[in-house]
Amino acid sequence: MDRTVIANLADLREDLAALYRDLHRHPELSLQETRSAGLLAQRLRDAGFDEVAERVGTTGVVGVLRNGDGPVVMLRADFDALPVQEKTGLPYASRARGVDPEGRDVPVMHACGHDMHAACLVGSATLLAGARDRWRGTLLVVFQPAEELACGARGMVDDGLFERFPAPQIVLGQHVAPLPAGVIGYGTGPVMAAADSLSVTLHGRGAHGSRPEASIDPVVMAASVVTRLQGIVAREVPPAESAVVTVGRLQAGTKDNIIPDTAELGVNIRTYTPQTRDLVRAAIERIVRAESAASGADTEPTLTWFASAPALVSEPDSTRATMAAFTEHFGEQRIQTMPLVNASEDVGVFGEVLGVPTVFWFWGGLEPETVVAAMREDRFDQLPGNHSPFFAPLIEPTLSTGVEALTLAALTWLGTP
Ligand code: ZN
Ligand code: ZN
Repeated sequence: MDRTVIANLADLREDLAALYRDLHRHPELSLQETRSAGLLAQRLRDAGFDEVAERVGTTGVVGVLRNGDGPVVMLRADFDALPVQEKTGLPYASRARGVDPEGRDVPVMHACGHDMHAACLVGSATLLAGARDRWRGTLLVVFQPAEELACGARGMVDDGLFERFPAPQIVLGQHVAPLPAGVIGYGTGPVMAAADSLSVTLHGRGAHGSRPEASIDPVVMAASVVTRLQGIVAREVPPAESAVVTVGRLQAGTKDNIIPDTAELGVNIRTYTPQTRDLVRAAIERIVRAESAASGADTEPTLTWFASAPALVSEPDSTRATMAAFTEHFGEQRIQTMPLVNASEDVGVFGEVLGVPTVFWFWGGLEPETVVAAMREDRFDQLPGNHSPFFAPLIEPTLSTGVEALTLAALTWLGTP
């Protein structure tokens, strides 16, 4: 592989760090990433991309770099932030506020590190654009909005991403994680769970608290549903498979002596295979409807599925080939395998709709000594991870490692001159 492409990173480092601090200081909530989108699109134009489009799938940005015959390779970064009050105390900490989808005024922070993803992709796009004589093919750069709502990838696809721009033969992406800075972690096959959320309204019949015989009590109905749902993973999912069913929201009533009309549940599931996902979803629907019928409800429950992301599968052969390039460049001691992550990512949507492989890896952003000390004292779980108000990747070596990884991965799949 031609390393001269990466050698030019030295000249970009300071500018990329400034871009990162700018994005970090100005985080934007999902589907409101307009300022960030403008900055990122301008960076691609400055780098000499042939085509740059904004507002793809609401706030997404797409860049195309055509460089002769050869494979089409897609590099993807997300760039939305979260409603979290930053507590890092960094000089470039966010003090931003935003309005969430419910209309509430909330603090905003890049607590998942998507600002680092975006800065690294700008770096890699710039390096590849500046070294067209070193590769052949087409580079498709995608800045995807709204990863945190699990709808941004789908939104871009539905807006014609792969009809308006060249469809790639492979999708490459990365996520910064609470690993030691400079270290890359990967898995082959399923690496992150499929996520689905369900909102349920159980319809009963309200009455005075002293007259249960006049009611169809949705509180008792809801309690039975919650208890019965626990049996899905315990009794229906094969022991060798894994799944999570969580009822994270349960709301009913206003006062102790009033039986309410309705009860609401918010259910979240995590699965790793399409079979288990279908099984768990069907079991939840069956139980909700059956408990409602068992209570004698006149009205069927209302079920609404939302925020769905498929399991993220890092295609094994393509992942191994990409990791071989990483190992050659970074050295074996900086590459490690990772267990399954129960969180979810919607990057898998792109490869899934095209039927092409996705390669996705994690890379560290934490002070190595802090991680080692935490592991020694068996308190790894207490390290500030993604979504924590204290999550702040070290700018270096995180930035350089992320740029190098994306660039090496792209060069692994692009053609040679
Ligand atoms: Zn996140
Ligand atoms: Zn994230």
